[in-house]
Amino acid sequence: MVSEKIADRTPPVGKNNEYIVNVTGLNHDGEGVGRVDGFTLFIQGALLGEKVRIKVLKVKKQYGYAKLLEVLEPSPDRTEAACPIYKQCGGCQVQHLSYDAQLAWKHRMVVDNLERIGKLKVRMDGAGSGSAIGLGETDEGVDGVSEGLSSGISGGRSYEMTGPEVIVHPTLGMDQPWRYRNKAQVPMGESEAGLVGGFYAKGSHRIVDMDVCLIQHDRNDEVVRRVKQISREIDISAYNEETRQGLLRHVVVKFGFRTGEVMVVLVTNGERIPKAEILIRRIREEIEGVRSICQNINRQHTNVIFGEETRVLWGQDVIYDMIGDVRFAISARSFYQVNPVQTKVLYDKAVEYAGLTGSETVIDAYCGIGTISLFLARHAGKVYGVEVVPEAIEDARRNAELNGIANVEFAAGKAEEVIPRWKELGIDPDIIVVDPPRKGCDPLLLDTILAMSPKRVVYVSCNPSTLARDLRILEDGGYRTVEVQPVDMFPHTVHVECVIGIQRIDT
Ligand code: SAH
Repeated sequence: MVSEKIADRTPPVGKNNEYIVNVTGLNHDGEGVGRVDGFTLFIQGALLGEKVRIKVLKVKKQYGYAKLLEVLEPSPDRTEAACPIYKQCGGCQVQHLSYDAQLAWKHRMVVDNLERIGKLKVRMDGAGSGSAIGLGETDEGVDGVSEGLSSGISGGRSYEMTGPEVIVHPTLGMDQPWRYRNKAQVPMGESEAGLVGGFYAKGSHRIVDMDVCLIQHDRNDEVVRRVKQISREIDISAYNEETRQGLLRHVVVKFGFRTGEVMVVLVTNGERIPKAEILIRRIREEIEGVRSICQNINRQHTNVIFGEETRVLWGQDVIYDMIGDVRFAISARSFYQVNPVQTKVLYDKAVEYAGLTGSETVIDAYCGIGTISLFLARHAGKVYGVEVVPEAIEDARRNAELNGIANVEFAAGKAEEVIPRWKELGIDPDIIVVDPPRKGCDPLLLDTILAMSPKRVVYVSCNPSTLARDLRILEDGGYRTVEVQPVDMFPHTVHVECVIGIQRIDT
């Protein structure tokens, strides 16, 4: 096998050496893929089709990383990154790729996963199909890069395709792919000049001050700027990870795009905030739309942002926002999609693929605060939602009430444990919707779906590789993947979200 040969031999490149390479692919981290004597190098900032000069940074057994020194022949899809701190920050990975090319690349990335991992026969619909903008070579065949899936070195594409074709539509992008985020979570630190807040300098824990983030709503930027300014003026200290001294760890801001409501959460390393009254008064006076100021206490030595305890310092414990005509209460710690404009697009597709007529029984697994459940309830007989975080289920119930939606029922627990119990109780869904985290559906849940045998399954996925793995299981169990709609929820990053319509074969 080729893999053994590669593993046995000494890498033909040396650290700090410079090379000129042709970039033959773009991997799922947005890195260019190039080869020196057959040895794979990943190059941040390089694009497919480019000729580049690089310097090797790190060499592993089967692959390495290189720094882009110079683009000798640029791709026609290359564009100037709009953000001045793009390279230092690392929060966005593909700003140097034009937006249209980003959408086409995400389209191809979904197709590639469905073919390679899901072994599905795919038809690319519309723009992007056959386009020059593609993946080229990916990191297939490089161990440990395919996100925990055991594909390892899978040796090309000689597998057999099964079933009829799956249609993969072009990625639905944004008209204005900037300033789309409704939530900011900004780490605070101390510099010689005092309190700073922004982002961790790549590969370190040093915080670089930042006032403008082009993917955040400007209100979030403004709130963070103000809170930093006020904190400096009244001498609130920032947390230091090494000494574990100092108070303010993160400033978290949530903004309701439709309502204009703002929540400010101060994550602190301790209970007492000196001059708290002044801080609260000034935030209320100086920031438009503030409805809630909360404190979350996190004394742990950890990267996790939130601690267990949240207090309301002033105002409500939630802010409200709307998606379509459904209203949602959002608390400090509950999960709410970060791009509300595209969330509407995503949920509308989920409802469309569910194909409801008004009488169906639907299960919404991984329901969070009940967003998709409530969207579906309008068109269904009854919706059952399940979610592992108990507070989210409390929010979901509150949201149902807020909207006067009575045909929903929510349960807290693991989908793979609760849904088999529902089956025992005789609940017989016509449609099951799943929206799992990145690791995909639990195998037990997939077994239960097959045993319950709903007419349709709608899969909302934030990770095409685990999606493809799960689709293979559903296909082998008697379902057919009909169509896939990628939706760009996170412009300028490598993330891609999809909605998938899946049908029982005999229907
Ligand atoms: N559908 C929601 C949330 C999707 S995020 C929305 O669009 O807003 C995925 C959710 O799955 C998270 O809320 C997470 O807490 C939940 N989750 C993770 N593992 C789970 C499990 N085993 N069972 C049920 N829910 C789970």
